[in-house]
This record gives sequence, structure tokens and C-alpha cells, in this order.
Amino acid sequence: MTTSSANVDVVRSPSVSRYAAGRLSPIRRVSDLRRLRDEQFDVLVIGGGVTGAGAALDAASRGLSVALVEARDLAAGTSSRSSKLIHGGLRYLEQLELHLVHEALTERGLLTSRLAPHLVRPVPILVPLPPASPPARVWQRAYYGLGVAAYDVFAGVFGSGRGMPLHRHLTRDGARHVFPSLRADKITGAIRYYDGQVDDARLVVNLARTAASLGAAVVTSARVTGFVREAREVVGVKVRDLESPDSPEFEVRARTVVAATGVWSDDMSRMLSDVGLRPGLRVRASKGVHLVVPRSAITGEAGLILRTATSVLFVIPWGGHWIIGTTDTDWQLDRSHPAASARDIRYLLDQVNEVLDRPLTTDDIEGVYAGLRPLLSGEADSTSKLSREHAVVEPMLGLLLVAGGKYTTYRVMAADVIDRAVRRLGGPPRPSRTDQLPLLGADGFPAAWRDRMDIARRHGVTAGVIEHLLERYGTLTVHLLAMITANPELATPLAGAPEYLAAEVAYAAQAEGALHLDDVLTRRTRISIETAHRGAETATHAAAVMGEALGWDEAVRAREVEHYLARVEAERQSQKMPDDLTADAARLGVPDVRGYAADRGTELSEADL
Ligand SMILES: Cc1cc2nc3c(=O)[nH]c(=O)nc-3n(C[C@H](O)[C@H](O)[C@H](O)COP(=O)(O)OP(=O)(O)OC[C@H]3O[C@@H](n4cnc5c(N)ncnc54)[C@H](O)[C@@H]3O)c2cc1C
Repeated sequence: MTTSSANVDVVRSPSVSRYAAGRLSPIRRVSDLRRLRDEQFDVLVIGGGVTGAGAALDAASRGLSVALVEARDLAAGTSSRSSKLIHGGLRYLEQLELHLVHEALTERGLLTSRLAPHLVRPVPILVPLPPASPPARVWQRAYYGLGVAAYDVFAGVFGSGRGMPLHRHLTRDGARHVFPSLRADKITGAIRYYDGQVDDARLVVNLARTAASLGAAVVTSARVTGFVREAREVVGVKVRDLESPDSPEFEVRARTVVAATGVWSDDMSRMLSDVGLRPGLRVRASKGVHLVVPRSAITGEAGLILRTATSVLFVIPWGGHWIIGTTDTDWQLDRSHPAASARDIRYLLDQVNEVLDRPLTTDDIEGVYAGLRPLLSGEADSTSKLSREHAVVEPMLGLLLVAGGKYTTYRVMAADVIDRAVRRLGGPPRPSRTDQLPLLGADGFPAAWRDRMDIARRHGVTAGVIEHLLERYGTLTVHLLAMITANPELATPLAGAPEYLAAEVAYAAQAEGALHLDDVLTRRTRISIETAHRGAETATHAAAVMGEALGWDEAVRAREVEHYLARVEAERQSQKMPDDLTADAARLGVPDVRGYAADRGTELSEADL
């Protein structure tokens, strides 16, 4: 057992560029798997969602030796299924949770200006003011106006560089000019404010790659099945490599284990239930469903935030599409593949149609996705009222659990849990430095964006192609362009999804840790929710490109395509079912590509708490 194997030296050597060290290639996976078996890590993180990837980066950037293990794919859990907003949360302002708003707006400022300007951008959002009597109208405008102004002030005064334009009051005509599809009889005016928008799955991959560039071992398809304990201390985990189902489970040694497993947090506690421990935190899952419709279905240049009976509804522009969501209902069924039912879809259509001049129907829907909020439980009965704040607990020596929070504040959660790990490890103080650390692709982004016409001319592609690549890869775009120069076929648009290039599939397999077709069509690209065929018409082409990059034979390609098509069909069936139970049963018809069995919620008994 060593703490600095040859592999660590390779990835940390100054002669290896940060980019090369951050490539999650198939060879890198083999060497990182070997490191898992051979090394003892300072910190081992379980869970490759935004919290886990953020924690791995935080620890690696403090100079600790780090491993990150993820059971499925990076961001395969909740972190690819959010509303994709980096936001302070107007709702929290209303609830006077000012510290939460302040914290989130600070993070928003950091992400847009320094850490990930290539991935997080401003999106304008309208708060429509509903019809009311004249005195009520004045009151309404003052109430919402004050809220949104406070939001701007918080961002400007406390946020790290606002990075967003200021809010503006609009008359009814002004609002309809920005959003012609808004029904005139439903508004008296609106207030336009700005928040951040992110491709949630891509930011997680970027975090994991940045952690890898600083020496972290990052292994996906690696499921933790139990803890290794010595006396009453956790000293590692047992891992199963789901890409080699016949190979035996193995142990990974670590001085501190951090579980960042979102809605699977109670499973971690359960793995220790034989020693009669109190887990310290408990997480419940609340399902949120989103619809994706084409941009042409609604005419507007900004998003909308609408109040519903229990929560809020967002209608947010997303490239050539709109994202509409979300629902908020308790969920206790399969957590790996939460299913949207016909009832969820009807609810969202009904809500949004309240304010649209041309009602949407199910025929308008391109994509549907469902995610599970990891809510710290025990504070209220209704899921919408449960806290979004996070908690870090140490139920047993050597094990830290971190859960709750929201995507926007991943860095704060990561810093909190790694602060605890550093205290435990002893040695010199090592404060978090992630607020100063641009992610891979962020350095030089503003200049590259300014020069995009030139870059396009030099590479003989359109400016649109360069913009698309810069907004997804930042300055790493040069590597995709180099691949295209070496193999011009990679400039081919993908079948059924021409806004994406074949090069993106090859790059996902060679540098972004994608192991399966599903990883590429669902998370490295968002084709599975952005096309009415949900990626079915892209699957064969993408499998051919991926197969080339990963050395798949015909049988593997066919199996990947077959699995993907079956998954799409199961999702379609589930979305026709009337309720959660029947939708879940229909979705479970197709198992996970990594061989997961049904993944039910595990209830801890009161005695466990
Ligand atoms: C519908 C919806 C909309 C949202 N919108 C927003 C928004 O707009 N803005 C915002 O800030 N927040 C939003 N959120 C909240 C945010 O998405 C989540 O708080 C965040 O993604 C949670 O990340 P996580 O890393 O904690 O969990 P996850 O992303 O679920 O990651 C946990 C990971 O642990 C892995 N894992 C579990 N068990 C094991 C095991 N045994 N071994 C190895 N790995 C394991 C899982 O596979 C998973 O990848 C939204 C949430 C939902 C559901």
C-alpha cells in the first residue's frame, strides 16, 4: 500500500499539462482503478453528482490525495435532472431566508465570472404581475419589485462580481413585447430579472475532470457496497466494478470517507446499521418533472417564473427549446430511474397553459425528465416546505455524510465537508481554494469568445459551430478542433441531432469518461431530451463513433443501441401511465445499462435514528 504510486506521479507531473491530466480516458480509468486497489487515499468520495465531484475537487485542490467513485455515470443521479438554474432563489427571499439567498448569489457571481463562465450564463426571467384592482396592483408591483431589487442588491453588494444585468419593470405591453405568448388578460405588467443557467450534467463532468487534473482518481461504474471498518472506525469502502461484473469486489483504503450520495444517503447509514449507529441525517426524495418543448411552441425572449398552489413553475429558454417545470411530490420508488407519469405531464401543461395564448398539448413535447430532490427530512410534512439547506454529519469515525443543499451551492457544501475532513486528518491548515480555481476550459474563455469569428475562419467552420463548442467546452474547444483536423469525418453533424458534431461523441468517450451510449446521449449531450425521437434516430450513428473511439465490436455496438432504444421506449410507456406506481413499473421494464437491479428507497426505522 502506497500513498504515491507511479500513477500519481504521472498525473501530477509538471511535465503533463493540466488538460492531459484531466482527460478521463479509457486508459485513465484502468490506471485509476489500479490506484483504488493500491493506494490509501486521504479522502475517498462516494457519489459523482455535483456535491461529490465538488468535494473531490475541493480536496484535491488542497493538496490531499483523493479518489471519487460513482456507481453509474457522472451526474447520473439528480445532478443532470435539475431546472438548470444557478439561482439565489426568489422564493427564499420571500421566506426571508436571507442568508441562503446571500450564499447562493455569491456562488452565482463566482461561477459566472471566474469559475465557469463557459458553462454558466445569464438568463432573463419575467415575474408576471397578475391582474388585480388598482390599489392591489400598486402593492403587488412594490412587493415583487422590492424582492427583485433586494436580489440585485444582494448580488451587487455581497456577490462576487454581479455578472448579471439589473432588473427592470415592464408594463403590460412591455412584457408582451418580450414574451408575446403571454396572455394579455393574465398580466398587468412584469418585472424582468436575471439568474444563471447551466448545463448541469456538463458542469459535473467538468468538476470531476478538474479534480482529475489535480491528481484525483475518478472511477465511474464503481459501486460502493459496504464500508471497511477497523474497530469502530471506517477505514475504507468495498467497491464493485460494474464494467467487470465477474471480477470480485475489492477494498479501497482511505483515511476519510465522504458520502455525497444525494437521495441514496440513507443507504450509507444502512450499511452501518449493524453497529447500531444513529445516522445523524436522513434524506427523503421529492420528485420534480420537467417537460422540454421546441422554442417555436412559445414566442418569448425571456423565461417565466409562475406561482403555483404548492410551489413555483419555471418556463426557461434552453437553446432551441423551452424547459418547463417542475412538480414537487414525494417519491419512494426506484431512485435510479424516477418515472414521470401522465398525471405529472398533465399538471405541468395545465399550469403553463394558464398563461399562454396558444395552449401546449402533449404533441408539443420533445422530452420529459424526472429528478429527485435530496431533502433533509423531518422539518415539515409538505415536501415543498422542506429545507434546501445542507448538513454534514460524522455518524462514525472516518465517515462524513453530506447531503441536502442545492446545485448552486455545491461549492459551499464541498468546502464544509472537506473542512471537516482536514480537521480529522490533522496537519497544517489547508483552507478551501476553490473560489479562486477556474474549472478546465474557463481560463481564457472571454478572449476566445471575442475571437470566435476568427477561430471559425481559421478552422473552416461556421461561427455557430464555434459558439456551440465554446459554450460547452470553453477553451478546451481547441482539442475538439484538433480532433476534427486529424479526422475531418468528425465534423459531421450527428444523425437526428445536427446541432451536435460526431467529434463530441468521440471526445466524450476519449476525454470525458463516457462509457456507454446512454452517457453520451443523455448527459455529455442532451439529445435524449432535446429531440422528439429522444435520441433513437441518433443511436446508431453515435454508437458507431463511440465504438471507433472505444474499440467496440459489432456485438457491443448493437447491444448499446438496443439497450438505449429499449430505455427510450420504457420511458415513453411510463409517461402514458396514470400514476407513480404504474409509471415506475413500466420504466422498470428495462434495467440500467450498468446492470442495476431495481433501486428502491430504503426506509430507516425510527430505531435507526
Ligand atoms: C427537479 C429538480 C430541479 C432542481 N433545480 C435546481 C436548480 O435549478 N438549481 C439548483 O441550484 N438546484 C436545483 N435542484 C437541486 C439539485 O439538483 C440537487 O440538490 C443536486 O443536484 C444534488 O446533487 P448531489 O450530488 O447531492 O446528488 P446526486 O446528483 O444525486 O449525486 C449522488 C450520486 O451518488 C451516486 N451513488 C449513490 N449510491 C452510490 C454507491 N453506493 N456507490 C457509488 N455511488 C453512489 C449516485 O449514482 C449519484 O450519481 C433541483 C433538483 C430537482 C430534483
